[in-house]
Amino acid sequence: MQLFRSELQFGFEKKCTLIPIKSLDVPNLKFGKPDIHCELSCKQENQGFKLTGNLSCNLLMNCDRCLTEFQNNQDILIKLILTSRNDLLSEENDEIILFPEEMKEIDITHFIRDSIQLSNPIKTVCKISCKGLCSICGINLNMKSCSCTSRTRYTPFDNLDHLISN
Ligand SMILES: [Zn+2]
Ligand SMILES: [Zn+2]
Repeated sequence: MQLFRSELQFGFEKKCTLIPIKSLDVPNLKFGKPDIHCELSCKQENQGFKLTGNLSCNLLMNCDRCLTEFQNNQDILIKLILTSRNDLLSEENDEIILFPEEMKEIDITHFIRDSIQLSNPIKTVCKISCKGLCSICGINLNMKSCSCTSRTRYTPFDNLDHLISN
C-alpha cells in the first residue's frame, strides 16, 4: 500500500481503501474475503504524519473446541507515525517509520502485514456457547447430541467403590 507525500501533506479523514490479500502475502492465515478494508486518517504534526485508523479483515479460523472452520471478523486499530526525524526512531516502537524528506511516497505494506499477524488471537472459538466435541465419540455437540453425554463418567474411584462394596 503506497502513500504519497502530497496526499499526506493535504491530510485526509477516514479514507477507505481495499487492500488485496494477495499483495500482503501473510503467512499462516486464511482469509474469507479477497480484500482487507482499510480506513485511514492522516494529520500532520510536528513529529511528522500521524496516521490512525482501522483494518477490518475476515479470517477463516478453526474453532478450538469443535474444530469447525468459521469466519472471524476482526477490527484492528492501527496507529503509525511517518517521520523524517531519526531521533524519534527506536527498536521497541515499530509504529514509527522513517520517511525522509526527499521521498515522495512510502510503502506501508509490511506495517499492515505485521498488524494483522500480531492481532491474531491465540484462543479462538466459533461462539462463546460452543459445546465442542464429545470426548468419547468425537461428535460435534453443536450439531447433534450423543448418548455418551448422559452416561456417568468413569473415574478411578469406580473400581475402588466396587472393591469396597464386595
Ligand atoms: Zn466451536
Ligand atoms: Zn459422544
